[in-house]
This record gives sequence, C-alpha cells and structure tokens, in this order.
Amino acid sequence: MLCVRALGRYSAILDGEARPLYLASKAWPVAFEADESDENLLRLNRDFTSTMIARLGDPPSPNASMPSLLGLKRELARRTLRSCRFCERACGADRGAGETGYCGVAEPRVASEFVHLGEEPELVPSHTIFFSGCTLKCVYCQNWDISQDPSAGKAVAPKTIAGWIGRRDGYVRNVNWVGGDPTPALALVLDVLAESDARLAQVWNSNMYLSERAMRILAGTMDVYLADLKYGNDDCALGLSDAPRYWATVTRNLRIARESGELLVRHLVLPGHVECCSLPALEWLAKGAPDAKVNVMAQYRPGYKASGGLARRPTMGEVLSVQRRALELGLDLTL
Ligand code: SF4
Repeated sequence: MLCVRALGRYSAILDGEARPLYLASKAWPVAFEADESDENLLRLNRDFTSTMIARLGDPPSPNASMPSLLGLKRELARRTLRSCRFCERACGADRGAGETGYCGVAEPRVASEFVHLGEEPELVPSHTIFFSGCTLKCVYCQNWDISQDPSAGKAVAPKTIAGWIGRRDGYVRNVNWVGGDPTPALALVLDVLAESDARLAQVWNSNMYLSERAMRILAGTMDVYLADLKYGNDDCALGLSDAPRYWATVTRNLRIARESGELLVRHLVLPGHVECCSLPALEWLAKGAPDAKVNVMAQYRPGYKASGGLARRPTMGEVLSVQRRALELGLDLTL
C-alpha cells in the first residue's frame, strides 16, 4: 500500500521495512506465452501491476516454474525495441537491427557510473548510472556532452551492471537511472534488474517524455520517479526542447507514475519563464500530485546553445516569486 507521506515507502525501503518494487515484480508469478498478442500482454501487464501494487503486503507464494511480472515486462520491452516507441516520438526505429531514431541510440551506452553526492538530500549517496543520448534537445542542456552524443561511453552487459550495483548494496541509498535520459535504455534497465538482487530502491531520473506504453512497462519496477516538469505549456517545450505534445505527455506520465511509485519532481526556474512555465507547473502539481516532493531549482546557468532570453541567470526576484508560490500552494519542498 502506498504511504501518504511524501517518499514514505522509499523511506521504508531504506529502513529495511519494505522491499524494492522490482524484487516484488520479479517474484510475482504471471502465466503468459511469448507468442501472445501485444494487446494481451499489455493488458496482463497492467492488470498484474495494479494487483501487485495493491497486494504488496500480501504477495502470492513464489513459483519458480512460472514466468514473473518482470519477465512479462522484459518481453514487452524487447518487442518495443523492434519498432521503438519508448518515448512519445514513437519513431519506429528497429533498434534491435541497429537502426536509430531521433535520440540516436541503438544499443544503449553507459557514459559513466559513480556514487553521486550532489542529488537531493533524500537520495544521497546515490549510485548513478548515466546513459548517453536523450529524447529531447534542450537548447540549454547542462549535460549536452553525453545527452547529444549517443556514441559516448560504452555498451555494457546487464550482468556487469548488476555486478556494479551489487558491490554498492549497503553503501548507497538507491540506484539512480539517468542520462541524457534513461528512456531509450529501458529494456536494458529491466535486463539488469533481472540479474540483480540488491535491496536498493530504484530511481527513474528522467525528463518523463516517455510513451504511455513505456510508462506501463516501467510501472512496478521503479520506487521513485525523479521527474522533471520543465514547462507549463507546449509552445515553450517545442521551442526550447523540440518536444511536441509536452504538457499532455508529461502530466499523463506523472499521473501514471503515482499509481505505483513515489514522485520527487524537479522544476528548474528558467529566466523569463515564470508566468508561462513555473507557475502553471506548480499549480498542476498542487492539484495533480499533491503528495509529491518538489524541488524548485534555482541553479540555471546559460550553456550549450542558450541564447536570447536564456543567456542570463534567473534573477533573485524570479526565483523568490516561484518559491513563494510553491509555499502558498502548500507543496512539499525539498530542503
Ligand atoms: S527512444 Fe529514441 S528511437 Fe525510441 S521512439 Fe524515442 S527517440 Fe525514437
């Protein structure tokens, strides 16, 4: 059962009182055949994920001879790779055959992995695994050297990544899947989880520009969504990140994320975007995700291709007005 307190279940995992969702998915038996239709498998995945979340304290007996819910999710992810629709762009690239789509990722590559001490206080120390490539092209990207270069880093086998995670079990609070963006690597992440048994919370650190299909596959494996809500409207999202249908996509995905996991939402204050982006984003969070932890971030600096109105830092007045509105709305802000 989900706790009402922000990140309450995540805290229970840290205290050893709850197990990470991916371990529950791995142990949850689901009968399915690999040649079943996509529609059937999607329906099974959705039904069993909801049941598992509702019965976390009362799981069925493990059945080693049956496939698991995680196995079902991996099968759906493998199918998705043949005509990629992990993100909202749904390019249709046959990535299994080496084709690339908008993000440029065929086989995911790990750009770096290390114990991160600079994330939100609730998360550190965090075992952060960075994939190269991204589903957005933000003109001010601070991570552009890996987000816009999908060839950065190297391809790593799931077992090897699971080994990295296992060695950090007990020393970190979580595994933090990020990039660029982790979305093009979703199938690999599930393969790693299948090889892992670490009792570590899983954090999906993302722009949240996933397809609904990808969100449904991911649900029940991630304990926390460290989610960006960058814009408050589609025009700014299109102009600054080349992200069509941004608002409907990301707000839909935040709603889906809350059905199984917990939310820590980041909003970066952009110069000149208080009225059009910051205020609508905060107002949506107050109504759409009142149990989310929210980080209003003031550290924007112009970089990469930022120009015009984005070629300056936000003023103190802009940052304060966003923080003040967040407090007025009763949002649960990070320290
Ligand atoms: S993840 Fe990449 S290849 Fe897949 S749909 Fe999105 S942009 Fe296209």
